[in-house]
Amino acid sequence: MLRAFLFASLCWGLLCAGPSGSAERWFAEPKSPRTASYRIEAALDWPGKALQGSETITWRNTGTAATAEFPLHLYLNAFKGPQSLFLKESGGRLRGDRMGTDADPQSWGYCRLLRVDLDGARLDGHPGEDETVYWVKLPRPVAPGETIRVDVAWEARFPRVYARSGWEGSFLMAGQWYPKVGVYQGDRWICHPYHAATEFFADFGVYDVSLSLPNFLRPAYTGTPVTSRGEDGRLYDATVDPKRPTHHLWRLHAEDVHDFAWAVMPKLSWGVKSWTYRGVEVYYYYQGANLDNLPRQRAAVEAALRAAAEWYFPYPYPVLTVVDVPGEARGADGMEYPTLFTAASSPFEPFGLRMLETVAIHEFGHQYFQGMLASNELEEPWLDEGLTSWFTHRVLGRNYHAMLGTRRFQVDTSFGDWAGFWIGPSIDPLVRRGYETMDEASTFRSAYNKPTLVLDQLEALIGRPQMDRVVAAYAQEMAFKHPTRQDFRRIAERVTGRDLGTFWRDFIEGTEVLDIVIERVAQTPTRTGGWVEGPKGMQFVPPQQVAPGATSSITLRRRGGISAPITLWVRLENRREHRLQWDGKDRWVTFDDPALFDAPIQAAILDPDGNYPLLKDRLHGHWVAKPARRGFHYWSQLLWGALTGFLQGAGLG
Ligand SMILES: [Zn+2]
Repeated sequence: MLRAFLFASLCWGLLCAGPSGSAERWFAEPKSPRTASYRIEAALDWPGKALQGSETITWRNTGTAATAEFPLHLYLNAFKGPQSLFLKESGGRLRGDRMGTDADPQSWGYCRLLRVDLDGARLDGHPGEDETVYWVKLPRPVAPGETIRVDVAWEARFPRVYARSGWEGSFLMAGQWYPKVGVYQGDRWICHPYHAATEFFADFGVYDVSLSLPNFLRPAYTGTPVTSRGEDGRLYDATVDPKRPTHHLWRLHAEDVHDFAWAVMPKLSWGVKSWTYRGVEVYYYYQGANLDNLPRQRAAVEAALRAAAEWYFPYPYPVLTVVDVPGEARGADGMEYPTLFTAASSPFEPFGLRMLETVAIHEFGHQYFQGMLASNELEEPWLDEGLTSWFTHRVLGRNYHAMLGTRRFQVDTSFGDWAGFWIGPSIDPLVRRGYETMDEASTFRSAYNKPTLVLDQLEALIGRPQMDRVVAAYAQEMAFKHPTRQDFRRIAERVTGRDLGTFWRDFIEGTEVLDIVIERVAQTPTRTGGWVEGPKGMQFVPPQQVAPGATSSITLRRRGGISAPITLWVRLENRREHRLQWDGKDRWVTFDDPALFDAPIQAAILDPDGNYPLLKDRLHGHWVAKPARRGFHYWSQLLWGALTGFLQGAGLG
């Protein structure tokens, strides 16, 4: 750490908190194509929660055709008024939080373009579907491979936060705060308006951001500060802003990222702790009451850093910043930005659920699946949310074993995804565009819940070693690109040497469910008698049971639309065991071969090897002739069964 702890001079500000490092350059070789780079200067008006900014966007046409358009996201216009798509779609609610009073101007915010110039000439344009996108018209087409520099001036006002960006109390989260160019792929601009249900998509670049902030504020930010040498010869993270004597000027730098975020709070209101782990400087900005959570937060972040390095590749950035959002600003919580994420904690967690760890690991996971594997979050949200949720479940399993665990009773780390999915498994396919799902719950199911279970299903199909190789190859080959699901499939098929067409159709693109149950178990006593031929001719013997004397049968039924070969394990009362295979193509099958089933069935288990984590109804995948001893285990299983049965029944797939 190069940071100076200053107590300062008239000219140099005090800057004892925040990621350090004087380097204006992180990487000797660019890690990304650096398609869109930003040099931004912005000053914060703290009482007004407003910004004045100017920026130069250096943009290269990496498409296949020339374009005379240059669309800019103006995300804060989502909060400009009730006419925005975001407001119409969300009704002013998001992820359990809601906007403040309509009549309060502070509930609203905006981003207003003041000027867009190219080579000194003023450019015009028009809004898109709503004012969250402005389509700038270029004076001439820009050819593939050509680079332009567009100068933009704007002003913005942050709303009271309920959806990621904004302020509450003395906390401000600046996300989506600057005009940002869309992504040009092939001959198509991808620059969707800000929808309620979806997040963002942007190109990689270098960010040099100069923020003028009131000097009593402590910022947390993407990237590292560019330090300056003070009159005393020491290095400082910020200097006094020559234009605004009560402000500090923070010069911040980040490379090969596709976004830049920052948050501020008065120095007295929050603290910062830092440590180095595996060469990464980790900064934890905490609310005072939550300092006791630091060991848990730290363990979780380190577990995630370690897992990602071992499974995919080491986290390449020099810094990672964790922002513990204050309770009143929860709308800003649980959000990922390059080298920074928000993960609130609470001093009180009554049920011992690993929520703090879950959020920290999940948001860290986005540094990979979203930060570096920057897929299109609007069109294929599962590629970032789903892979991140699956990563979270994996890291939790590895380090904490269960979401909630006692000696006998454990809640699996994917339980939340399992419960969320089965409430409505057939509403939207996993591949539905994020803003085209039926409702917010369905967005979560398609983007988070189902992919987690589907990736578990893929792992069960190909085996854990292969699965590890598939995801590692995907992460390594597609980092700093914009991977799509076709990339994932191509890599998975190459690594495994399998055709995944059926799996893809059933689980990735389809909405049917895998639902096979033990429908019926029966036994038939073996009896002899009736008219039989004896020494004196025909004689009547009353029918009677032959000891041991019974054959049995078992019927399986496929209730769901997905057919898959499945194993049935059966044990008979005479201790014989059978493993039977059913191709699952018909809607039902009965196994009743008397040579196999020559005694009553004692127990049966469908899918005994757990090949189908996505098998819907495990309750009806087990059968026993006699119930288990009614101990603690029995009753806890019964309770658990009732709960899971209720959850399944609530949707009836
Ligand atoms: Zn997420």
